[in-house]
Amino acid sequence: MINFVNVSKRYPDGFEALKNVAFTIHSGELVLVAGHSGAGKSTMLKLIAAIERPTYGNIMVSDQNVNALKKNTVPFLRRSLGLIFQDQKILYDRNVFANVMLPLQIRGFQNKATAGRVRAALDKVGLLRKENAYPITLSGGEKQRLCIARAVVHRPSILIADEPTANLDVDYAQSIMEVFRSFHQVGVTVVIATHDTALLNDNRYRKLTLNQGKLVV
Ligand code: ADP
Ligand code: ADP
Repeated sequence: MINFVNVSKRYPDGFEALKNVAFTIHSGELVLVAGHSGAGKSTMLKLIAAIERPTYGNIMVSDQNVNALKKNTVPFLRRSLGLIFQDQKILYDRNVFANVMLPLQIRGFQNKATAGRVRAALDKVGLLRKENAYPITLSGGEKQRLCIARAVVHRPSILIADEPTANLDVDYAQSIMEVFRSFHQVGVTVVIATHDTALLNDNRYRKLTLNQGKLVV
């Protein structure tokens, strides 16, 4: 489902953020990507989502060769992905419902079909009763749930999250992990980059650990 073969990533300034990384994540797995700050975790996630391209090596995601994707076929790859990155902005001028509906509108879904999907996504993250609330009134944990709902509203088969529990206190962080586990339980492949030690000490999860751009085996 996600396969890296000898992948290296050198940024334009010459810095090599990933060095000869190889791994396979099977369909339906939940995997944590661990490593110190600067280890290359975000870079790995960006390569999966074709936000960055590899300098060397080969990347397959959902049977698509990411290296060979033309600019105009990236949207097809993205359809199978739900992305939760920290720079994704919540829109404060509209309510929770409208925030979650936006990705469907962008993808050209007809209005009739969207309300049910938006409510299904809000229900899965436990935010249904807040559908009319404005984001300013949400707690940190609820804002993170909103981001997850927005990422899953088009029902992707792969969820990619970069430090989704950063800045959350322990209880909130655990409940966010429950949300990810619930998607994992229905067959969604989940990849989470984290340096949250409580999470990493939980040996239920498979870990891919990066150290200075290399996969630790
Ligand atoms: P992590 O998510 O583990 O903190 P990153 O993948 O964000 O690591 O970064 C890995 C290394 O690559 C860091 O040293 C970072 O400074 C560098 N890096 C990330 N993005 C860029 C970029 N666009 N240009 C140059 N260097 C980058
Ligand atoms: P439907 O309207 O098709 O009956 P639901 O939204 O109730 O669908 O989902 C049917 C099942 O598929 C649920 O168990 C749901 O959690 C699961 N499912 C599988 N993949 C995803 C995904 N990427 N996002 C949300 N739900 C998913």
